[in-house]
Amino acid sequence: MSHPVTSHPAAVAAGGSVLSLPQGPPDLLRLDTALQQSAALHGHLCPRQILGARSAVLAGDLLGLDFPRTDKRVLVLAETDGCYADGVSAASGCWLGRRTLRLMDYGRVAATFVDTRTGRALRVWPRTDLRERVRAQKPPDQKRYQAYLDAYRHWSDAELLRAAEVELDFDLAALISQAGAREVCSHCGEEVLNERWSVRQGRVLCPACLGGAYYRPTSRQDNL
Ligand SMILES: [Zn+2]
Ligand SMILES: [Zn+2]
Repeated sequence: MSHPVTSHPAAVAAGGSVLSLPQGPPDLLRLDTALQQSAALHGHLCPRQILGARSAVLAGDLLGLDFPRTDKRVLVLAETDGCYADGVSAASGCWLGRRTLRLMDYGRVAATFVDTRTGRALRVWPRTDLRERVRAQKPPDQKRYQAYLDAYRHWSDAELLRAAEVELDFDLAALISQAGAREVCSHCGEEVLNERWSVRQGRVLCPACLGGAYYRPTSRQDNL
C-alpha cells in the first residue's frame, strides 16, 4: 500500500510533509490484541492508551514493518510518558526495557517511529481538534470518557491522526550504541553502559560526574 505525500498547512508546524492516511475502519483484531496487553499492564483501558496503540499500528503500516516487533529494528521516540506511551509500547513491541523506546519528554502526545535499518523516521500525532470533534459528535446521553474510548477505537486513521516523515537531528548510531559497551567512571567508580561516558585527560567520566547530576547527596539518615 502506498500513501502519497500531500502538502498541508499543518506540515509547517510538523516540520515535514503530512502524509495522507487511510480513511477506512481500523483492524480491530490487531488493535484489541495490543490494547488487552497494554490495559493489563496499565491497570485500566483509557483513551490515550488507545491513541498510542493506534499511532503505533499506523506507523508500522506506513513503514511496511510488522508490529509488534520482537527484535530491535524499530526505535520509538515517545514525546510523553504515561498512558499514551503504554499504548505505543504494546502495539509496537518497543519498550524501555528492550532499549527500543526512548522518552523525549516534550509533554506532547506524539511519537516518532524509526526504522533503524533504513533510517526512515515517521512522526505521528493526534489531530489538534480531535477532542472537540468527538464531543460534538457524541450522543447526548453518552459520557465524554466513553465517547473518547469509542471514537479512538473506531474512527479512521485520517480522522484521528496525522503523520509525517521526519529527519532525525541526532546521531542514531551513538544513541543505540552497542551491546556490551561498558566502562567504569574514574570519579564515582560506577559502571557506565552504552558509551555514555566521556574521556577527559585520559580519565573516563560518567555524565553525572562530568556535567552534574539530577540529584545531590543528603545527610538525612531517617527512614533508612
Ligand atoms: Zn491511563
Ligand atoms: Zn561517575
